[in-house]
Amino acid sequence: MTIDKGWLDEMEARIPHGEARTRFAPSPTGYMHVGNLRTALYTWLIARHNGGKFILRIEDTDQGRLVADAVDVIYATMRRCGLTWDEGPDVGGPVGPYIQTERRDLYGKYAQLLIEKGCAYRCFCTEERLEELHKDDPNAKYDRHCLSLSPEEIQAKLDAGEPYVIRQKIPEGSTTFHDAVYGDITVDNAELDDQILIKSDGLPTYNFANVVDDHLMGITHVVRGAEYLSSAPKYNLLYEAFGWEVPTYIHCASVMFNDPATGTVRKMSKRHGDPSYQDLVEQGYLSQAVVNYVALLGWAPHGDIAEQEFFTMDELVRAFEIEGISKSPSAFDMDKLNYFNAAYLRNLTPEEFAREAQPWIRQTVKNPAYDTAAIAALLQARCEKLSDIPEKVDFFDALPDYDVELFTNKKSKTNGEVSLEMLKQAYPVLEGLGCWSQDAIHDGLVGLAETLSVKNATLMWPVRIAAAGKAVTPGGAVEICRILGKDETLRRIKLGMEKLQ
Ligand code: GLU
Repeated sequence: MTIDKGWLDEMEARIPHGEARTRFAPSPTGYMHVGNLRTALYTWLIARHNGGKFILRIEDTDQGRLVADAVDVIYATMRRCGLTWDEGPDVGGPVGPYIQTERRDLYGKYAQLLIEKGCAYRCFCTEERLEELHKDDPNAKYDRHCLSLSPEEIQAKLDAGEPYVIRQKIPEGSTTFHDAVYGDITVDNAELDDQILIKSDGLPTYNFANVVDDHLMGITHVVRGAEYLSSAPKYNLLYEAFGWEVPTYIHCASVMFNDPATGTVRKMSKRHGDPSYQDLVEQGYLSQAVVNYVALLGWAPHGDIAEQEFFTMDELVRAFEIEGISKSPSAFDMDKLNYFNAAYLRNLTPEEFAREAQPWIRQTVKNPAYDTAAIAALLQARCEKLSDIPEKVDFFDALPDYDVELFTNKKSKTNGEVSLEMLKQAYPVLEGLGCWSQDAIHDGLVGLAETLSVKNATLMWPVRIAAAGKAVTPGGAVEICRILGKDETLRRIKLGMEKLQ
């Protein structure tokens, strides 16, 4: 079989030129690693910064078939993070399909082309033979057993239906490639394995598919994790064998995890239980806070904005220069993420915050009589992440069985005796209020403190403890009583008095 030249020319003619084209090429694993999110973000930023196109390509050849839910996770994550794509499986584009299993026929043709060029060969070695080869050294290179097969021998095996893979034939010499982050790197070809390009099931390996697809999709900048750096020479040799232009490589150093539990720093991985993007959302982090923090994991702005930490997406697009990407690994730190998230939460409008907070409030505040927007207003300045919320507001539904010692507070000048007296005085004042508004409760209690010649805190402390049954609450006595309503407030104050008697 020889390759149809017309078909090859047609494929070439489809490739768009004259614009920056980048791609995010996730494998559908069902979750998005922080490292993958960072790759997606940098890739998107390079396209947007240069006014180019951002392409989403699903690399599913390892799985054999498409896992629908896993792709949906990718779509949902990208959308929530604001990483819009111009071409992809769902929106199409000029160089589709954008799912590798749907491109399967094409890889075989390009592998055949390489065979014809003498840059690849069929390998019929059995599993057993390869196992034997790797018995002593799992990293042993393939011994090129099948490279010496004659055309007749190959034909006979093909006719007999023997399964085979197609391997890259690594030439002699050395290979130099350039990476925008790591500079020029040269390797001795003797170190490179004749890697498999097409597996026996006919599907390409990642190592082959990425080169063919990046070329056919007109990708100008390839952004990926530094773990692929050692494979880059093999990709370069493939580009050279085809006579294709090599894209700009941008390898990003690993994302490490600053593990608060052990105090150690190690490569961030789902296997160690480190959080994925979905985990972070479930833990109550806002996508935009995560994205802002992740942008700075291995990239830094320059010039006037070198010290800037908070960026909108538009600001990131303007500021994102490839030169700012760091060679050294960065450490993902939950405390730093908390800092970003708290700032993003504070920056929301009260309505936006209430909307985000509502499901978290409802985890513990089930009583529909309690207004979640009013509760949210107490929380906005007081949480680092939304998952802090349920435990902070659980007292609305159920008054905890608190210790009477909570009524004693030095700073507020209260003890059991003083608190009992304060509650006794507060009860009729609150009971007598005609309107249960913030102002009315406030004025009633402050007026009472004045009449009694005590500090406001001396009165407010026991009222708040009786109302909430907790030493630390979001909001003070007035706000909490207002949300609880008159009847429940009076009931709780009475319970407080009983405890103190
Ligand atoms: N499918 C590969 C991954 O998920 C993509 C690597 C690349 O961007 O080339 O790691």
